[in-house]
Amino acid sequence: MSILKKAFTIFVLFVVIAGAGGAAWYFDFFGLFESNTATEQKKENQAANPVDTTPKKVQIAATGDIMMHDWQIIGGKQEDGTYDFSHFFPKIKPYLSKADVAIGNFEFTLRGKEPYKGYPLFNAPDSVVDALKDAGMDMVSTANNHSMDGGVEGVKRTYRVLNEKGILTNGTAPSKEERKPTIFEKNGIKIAFISYTEMTNGIPVPKSYLVNQIKKLKQLKEDIATAKEQGAEFIMVALHFGEEYLRSPNEYQRKVAKEVLESGADVIIGNHPHVLQRMEKVNMDGKDKLIIYSLGNFISYQVKEHTDESAIVYFDIVKDSSGKVQVGDVSFLPILTYKKRYHVEVVPMTSEEKPDEFDDLDITKKKWRTSYKNIVEVLNRKQEFPLYSAEKASGS
Ligand SMILES: [Zn+2]
Repeated sequence: MSILKKAFTIFVLFVVIAGAGGAAWYFDFFGLFESNTATEQKKENQAANPVDTTPKKVQIAATGDIMMHDWQIIGGKQEDGTYDFSHFFPKIKPYLSKADVAIGNFEFTLRGKEPYKGYPLFNAPDSVVDALKDAGMDMVSTANNHSMDGGVEGVKRTYRVLNEKGILTNGTAPSKEERKPTIFEKNGIKIAFISYTEMTNGIPVPKSYLVNQIKKLKQLKEDIATAKEQGAEFIMVALHFGEEYLRSPNEYQRKVAKEVLESGADVIIGNHPHVLQRMEKVNMDGKDKLIIYSLGNFISYQVKEHTDESAIVYFDIVKDSSGKVQVGDVSFLPILTYKKRYHVEVVPMTSEEKPDEFDDLDITKKKWRTSYKNIVEVLNRKQEFPLYSAEKASGS
């Protein structure tokens, strides 16, 4: 063989081998070169333990204190003696129900009989729960300084009525067995909800299962661990804490919020000051987490400055293809509690200027603009969060 022929043969061989190698890689990309046994083994594994790696998202709408003051109760009284509160939420309903899960803080009790009263020992008619449910409220925290307003029986009945009417609760329980993290699954993500309060207005809590108290921080941490053991991938903790009417978190709030996040919670939904306080997105253990120090009042008849200014905070819980679950996009919608004599209504503030559609509401353009600016300023005091856009909502 001449040198030229030899070289040519080697060249041809090289091309064939390289080509086959390339082809093998190419085909293997589609799994064709995999042996049958390996393929079958894989199929069996998948059947036994299916791993769903598609990214998932749940949008939560978090709202503040749901209060029931005297004038709200009077405003709901019908001629026949029954109570109807359906006028509270028609304007805000689309913004609550667009989210996958809407949460609030239920700060009164349902004792089921007259006299229905507001402050200081709140007792409201059950029909307010129907109005909340109809507006799209899915879940409420019940651990707060008014949990014990109706005594032990009040705690038990409030728990029962809310759950029977289809609103999930956490924070108070009628028995030791029922005091546990509330765990639910939405859009393929398992989520836990836990609620605790700093105080009960000096009313003793005879059995610790009745009201979750922050002073039992060890129990809160155990609840987080229990929720994780039970498969919860994301932990939301509602904390009823801080100082009333203070528009920034105090040292106690900052300390507790940090400790609860460090114990494995992903979101702190703060309430109690009745006015808004800032929010912060933090990164901890490689995950994005959120602290909302105080959401103000979702609805109330409080008249102090800023107690009618609030927001719905929307946050996404996102699960990526690796299975990591954390806080995604965060935005907020400013809201205002409108009061005119006995009429109370929650109003969405979709723009800085009062929209024409709310011409019938007795709110001056100046009041609207000032409240709007206050809300944006307080929530964004530390970090800038965008305003809620309905187009970006999950829509489910
Ligand atoms: Zn409170």
